[in-house]
Amino acid sequence: MRIVVLTGGIGGARFLLGVRAYAREVGAEVTAVVNVGDDLLLHGLRVCPDLDSVLYTLGGGADPDRGWGRVGETWTVKGELAAYGAEPNWFGLGDKDLATHLVRTTMLNAGYPLSQVTEALADRWQPGVRLLPATDERLETHVVVEDEQGRRAIHFQEWWVRYRADVPTHRFVFVGAEAAKPAPGVVEAIAGADVVLVAPSNPVVSIAPVLAVPGLRDAVVDGPAPVVGVSPIIGGAPVRGMADRCLAVVGVECSAAGVGGLYGGRAGGGLLDGWLVAPEDEGTLVPDVVVRSAPLRMTDDAATAAMVRAALELM
Ligand code: GDP
Ligand code: CA
Repeated sequence: MRIVVLTGGIGGARFLLGVRAYAREVGAEVTAVVNVGDDLLLHGLRVCPDLDSVLYTLGGGADPDRGWGRVGETWTVKGELAAYGAEPNWFGLGDKDLATHLVRTTMLNAGYPLSQVTEALADRWQPGVRLLPATDERLETHVVVEDEQGRRAIHFQEWWVRYRADVPTHRFVFVGAEAAKPAPGVVEAIAGADVVLVAPSNPVVSIAPVLAVPGLRDAVVDGPAPVVGVSPIIGGAPVRGMADRCLAVVGVECSAAGVGGLYGGRAGGGLLDGWLVAPEDEGTLVPDVVVRSAPLRMTDDAATAAMVRAALELM
């Protein structure tokens, strides 16, 4: 069995722990197609927050409490940068994490595409699933905001980390998306999949930028594999993070029904064949989509693997 997972960072990484556990049980092969919209250049270094969250989490090197970055992290370089007054200063750049960005940036500068760089980084972390960036090209999520400084576009990370998504916001723009191509292997993996799972990631800023890569959405929608999504919203609220703020910007209700409707049913030109919601949201209706409920809290690998099984049994 071949499983493809469309995913963002922290929520997606936790979901992948369950997918991997399930896959080991049944001998399935897993390919994760990871969002790159959060990527940014910091002090000359290419940082890929979602790829790194997935690598560190699956590789056993993530900080379980913070949810992002490395366990046992130290912050010497960040302190030194602050002493110089170096900007930006709002991004948490740990010493251990920096090594990843140094290796990645060196390889990118030497001409390797991000997909190959990711493969090289995965050599160390042995994530147990194949990790592919959605695209090798630059695709950055920018956010059009309006504050005292007027209307301007800022990088998604500045909106999220610096402003905590708490600034009047007009819309999201996936800069570079029109010119992007799916990374090598992405379309092939989707075409060869027995099932495509949409992780319980942020639909607006994690999954949407993945699907914004021309050809990628079509590969999923026109592909032979059933597509099953898992709701990141339980009982009208995100389990973690600020997905509610992102949904408000795009005018979608923060509920399992709202997100299911945003993805839409494949028969109606949308994405999904199936939508897994939490027991709290039983009775959720999405046109053209089979909706089932199962416990959706990713408390440990076993609970998450059970969630994955429920998603697969939905087809
Ligand atoms: P990010 O890129 O680091 O923001 O992470 P993702 O986009 O992959 O995931 C963020 C989403 O994961 C949030 O909208 C959360 O609601 C969702 N999430 C986090 N933990 C859980 C959980 O235990 N269960 C479910 N169903 N969703 C979760
Ligand atoms: Ca992210």
